[in-house]
Amino acid sequence: MSDIAQLRNDFVTLNQSIEGNPLVYLDSGATSQKPQVVINEINHFYSKNNANVHRGLHTLSERVTSQYEGVREKLAQFLGVFATELVWTSGATHSINLVASGLTNQLRYDDVILITALEHHANIVPWQQLAQRTGAKLKVIPVNDQGIICTNNVLAQIQKWQPKIFACTHASNTLGNILDVQVFIAQAKKIGATTIIDGAQAFLHLRPNLRQLDCDFYVLSAHKALGPTGLGILFGKYEQLNALPVYQTGGEMIETVTFDQTTFRQAPAKFEPGTPNISAVLGFGAAIDYLSNINFSAMHKYEQSLFKYLLEHLSAIKGVKLYGDLDNNIGTISFTFKSEHHYDLAMLLNSYGVAVRSGHHCTQPLMQALNLNGTIRVSLAFYNNHTDIDRFISALNNCIQLIE
Ligand code: PLP
Repeated sequence: MSDIAQLRNDFVTLNQSIEGNPLVYLDSGATSQKPQVVINEINHFYSKNNANVHRGLHTLSERVTSQYEGVREKLAQFLGVFATELVWTSGATHSINLVASGLTNQLRYDDVILITALEHHANIVPWQQLAQRTGAKLKVIPVNDQGIICTNNVLAQIQKWQPKIFACTHASNTLGNILDVQVFIAQAKKIGATTIIDGAQAFLHLRPNLRQLDCDFYVLSAHKALGPTGLGILFGKYEQLNALPVYQTGGEMIETVTFDQTTFRQAPAKFEPGTPNISAVLGFGAAIDYLSNINFSAMHKYEQSLFKYLLEHLSAIKGVKLYGDLDNNIGTISFTFKSEHHYDLAMLLNSYGVAVRSGHHCTQPLMQALNLNGTIRVSLAFYNNHTDIDRFISALNNCIQLIE
C-alpha cells in the first residue's frame, strides 16, 4: 500500500456498513469526508476553548482569536496570497454572491458578463441577477456534445464579447473537467475584465497558487476540502476586494457607529459582520495542516491512477455512456446507463452501500446542453482505494442485472 492509500485510515466515517455492505463513498464532490484531526479540533474548541473572537480581553477569547486569525495566515500561505485578501464566508455560494453584489455599480447597460456552460448554479444565478439589476448581458461559452469546452474557443469568446466580468469554474462539479483558467485569466485581463474563478471543486485536487493564477477573485468551500460545512473563503486581490462595498452589515465590521452614520473597517473585516463560524475555521485550520503534510504530487498521481482504473472498468460495461473530459479531470465522472433513470440506479447502488450522486448536480443548463435529465456522478478523493472501485463496479453490474 502506498503512503497515500494509508491515509484512508484517518477517515473514520468510511469505516462503516450501509444496508449490510461496507460503505463505498464516491460522493466527495458533494462534500469530502473529514480526517480525525479535523473532528478532534472542533471537539477541542468546544470542550476547552469556547469563546467568541475579537471581543474579549479574557484568556479564552484571546487564545481563540489568535488561533482563528492564525488559520487565515496559514490558509494564505497555502494559497500563496496575503491573509488580508481572504474573507471568511459561509460557502462558495456566499462568496460569489458577495462579489456579484459588490460589482453592481461597476456595470453599465449592455456590458457583458461571460460565463461557461459548465457552471454550477452558484456561478450562474448571481450573475444572472446582476445582469437583471444592471441591464448587462449574460453570455455563455457553450460545451460540445461531450461536455467539453476547448481552450481556444474560450479565448475566442473572450475576444468576441469583451466582457467586463469573466466568471468560470476551475473544475466542473458534474464532469470533472479541469479548465485552463490561467490562460483564460491572462486573456481576460488583457481586455480589462474582472476575473472570478470558482475553485469549489478544484482546490482539494489541484492546490492552486492563486498569485500565479492571477485572478481577481477565487472562491472555495471548506467542506469540499476536508473541512467543516458552513465555511467558505473569498480570495480577492486586496485593492479589488477592498473596493467592493459592504455586503451585510452589523457588529465587528464597523469602525464607528452613530445614529446618523456608520464608518466601516477595511477588508477583510468589512465583509465579516457578526459572530463567525469559529469552530469551522479552527477545524479547517486542522484540514490545511493535514493537507500540508501530504506530498501533493504523490496524492495527485494516486488520484489519477484511481480515476484511470475507474474509467477502464466503467467504460467496459455495455450500455454505459461517459461524459466530460476524461483526460484532464479531477477524478469525477458522470455517466448514464442506456435509458435508465439515474435516480433508480442511484437508489439501487445505495442498497449495496455505494454512495453516488444522481440528478442534475446543480448544473441544469449543462444537462440541457447535453440533452440529459440527469446523470450518475462518481467523485473520487485520495481516501478512496481500488477496492472501492471494485465494489462499485460489482454493485453496478448487479443493479444492471436486476433492471434488465
Ligand atoms: N461551485 C461548485 C463548482 C460546486 O461544486 C459547488 C457545490 O457543489 C458550489 C460552487 C457551491 O458550494 P457551496 O454549496 O459549498 O456554497
